[in-house]
Amino acid sequence: MQFVFPAPPPAAVPVVGTCDFFPVHRIYCVGRNYVEHAQEMGATGREAPFFFMKPADAVLPVPEDAVGQMRYPSQTGDLQHEIELVIAIGKGGADIDADTALQHVWGYAIGLDMTRRDLQGEAKKLGRPWCTGKGFDDSAPIGPIHPMSQCALAANAAIELKVNGVTRQSSTLDKLIWSVPEVIAHCSKFYALQAGDLIFTGTPAGVAAVVQGDILEGEIAGLGQLSLRIV
Ligand code: MN
Repeated sequence: MQFVFPAPPPAAVPVVGTCDFFPVHRIYCVGRNYVEHAQEMGATGREAPFFFMKPADAVLPVPEDAVGQMRYPSQTGDLQHEIELVIAIGKGGADIDADTALQHVWGYAIGLDMTRRDLQGEAKKLGRPWCTGKGFDDSAPIGPIHPMSQCALAANAAIELKVNGVTRQSSTLDKLIWSVPEVIAHCSKFYALQAGDLIFTGTPAGVAAVVQGDILEGEIAGLGQLSLRIV
């Protein structure tokens, strides 16, 4: 195939402990998947999971033991952190059953669903899309992917985010309203999942603003750490 200009390189995330990369196809995100965060965002009661997307090249891969750098984005005065478990899909499918959903998982990673909360809030109020609030450049910092075969991700693994050494978000994965298999099942009803898809599974309570110079340290037990400086 002859392109009219060189095609951009595919977005990719390193695989932990190897020189391999996981090629990113799409990024799906679940909204409001922990009770206390849903409440802080104004929800009441259990509602079906809903999804939004970020462009694949919004990933900002942060190698193990490194401190990534994220530029403070334009057009916001309220950039907020959302620490999340990320599912890396290795086998595609549509209308996947929750019972067999884990067969589609290639691995897991720690991700940050960085959000221009002021733009998202305005979009909500006006009934407009969330794209500028959620899907901007570098809005998906992510640590290396841990292959499912090698990681010991406990059902009640701790998920935590510190900013400048102070804990902002702290929960456990068993507090997810919709579990990993249920998230995959729901998402695959709306989209045919493909190998290379990433699914951000939602954030616990405690989302708040960051400013230039802040150091974010995310951790999910079994998946190591993700460190990021806002510059
Ligand atoms: Mn989120």
